[in-house]
Amino acid sequence: MREPVLVPRLQPFTSTIFAEMTALAVRHEAVNLGQGFPDTDGPAGMLDAAKNALFGGANQYPPGPGRPELRAAIARHRLRYGAEYDPDTEILVTAGATEAIAASLIALTQAGDEVVVIEPYYDSYAAAVAMAGAERRVVGLVERDGRFALDVEGLRAAVSGRTRAILINSPHNPTGTVFTRAELEAVAALCVENDLIAITDEVYEHLVFDDAEHIPLATLPGMRERTVSISSAGKTFNCTGWKIGWVCASPELVAAVKAAKQFITFVSGGPFQPAVAHALDHELPWAENLRTSLQDKRDRLAAGLAEAGFAVRPTAGTYFVCVDVRPLGFEDASELAWELPERVGVAAVPVKVFTDHPEEWKHLLRFAFCKRNEVIDEAVTRLRKLR
Ligand code: PMP
Ligand code: GLN
Repeated sequence: MREPVLVPRLQPFTSTIFAEMTALAVRHEAVNLGQGFPDTDGPAGMLDAAKNALFGGANQYPPGPGRPELRAAIARHRLRYGAEYDPDTEILVTAGATEAIAASLIALTQAGDEVVVIEPYYDSYAAAVAMAGAERRVVGLVERDGRFALDVEGLRAAVSGRTRAILINSPHNPTGTVFTRAELEAVAALCVENDLIAITDEVYEHLVFDDAEHIPLATLPGMRERTVSISSAGKTFNCTGWKIGWVCASPELVAAVKAAKQFITFVSGGPFQPAVAHALDHELPWAENLRTSLQDKRDRLAAGLAEAGFAVRPTAGTYFVCVDVRPLGFEDASELAWELPERVGVAAVPVKVFTDHPEEWKHLLRFAFCKRNEVIDEAVTRLRKLR
């Protein structure tokens, strides 16, 4: 067979950092604060609804766009932001946000198009842009006023006649930044001026802390008709393995995304769809408790990481906190991340793997705090040995 068998555009994407770090954590029995997944279950009512659906016969293909009760629940949920979507023509259920992002890029961008991506970026974005045959243009966040802020000038400079779409993730993985209204207005202005499509990744929409507010980009003037809003149930209801995600957008955009999606998975998660519908309608108080508990966990882990000698960066949302490893005498957080499971029994993820500019980001390490308190405490105890 001709070697290499993998097409060139996918050759940079042979493994994911999450799979690699989790495998390393398992090998060394390390506390896994690398891959972001909770270690407790979601609301009992949602699990019951899944069980009832599973034993109630919901085990064949659901309808292509998703089960009607789930699309209706997604539409009701979106109303909390004042955003109205028609469940029949403007909502599509997907196999997690991951499929929604990939299908959107495949459907809406092609060879010759550029997609603007904010760096550091969630790992699937680069791979999905490559699968679409488009090219990514990255714009880095900048540390300003004690947070990772959007570089509005940089963003403006990155847009060209070839730009077709911009991919915006807020609350932002890995930095924990939540974009402000002013930042989102700048993005919106750019999209409107240049007739761009915005694809938003809002999977952490409920996980915002202190006085941070999640504002869907689609709710800003001029954005409703040009935004593909993407979210999923995994983070809101502690069910990352269910992979129930969704797209909300205009009928034209949803129809386009569906054209790609229906030939990727067609449908998925039959019995989980009614359970997520139940959760969106009845378990948001549970999600509010999750939010406050995660805020405490953020504080707990951040305090422990500071005691261990890291310079901790602020985090306004998500599962993650980033630290600068240089105060402990390390230069490259990636080298440290690969050593850490064996050396002290903790796994974390280097931020530079989410970037095209590893030199600029190599001092940062990402830790997940979506874990039980005793797990966080054990990780901190182990990390103290680094000094
Ligand atoms: N986007 C971001 C920013 C994420 O952190 C994740 C994963 N946790 C996803 C998308 C993927 O979401 P899903 O599991 O629903 O595919
Ligand atoms: N989104 C999770 C994280 O950032 C991991 C998801 C995955 O393993 N692909 O840690």
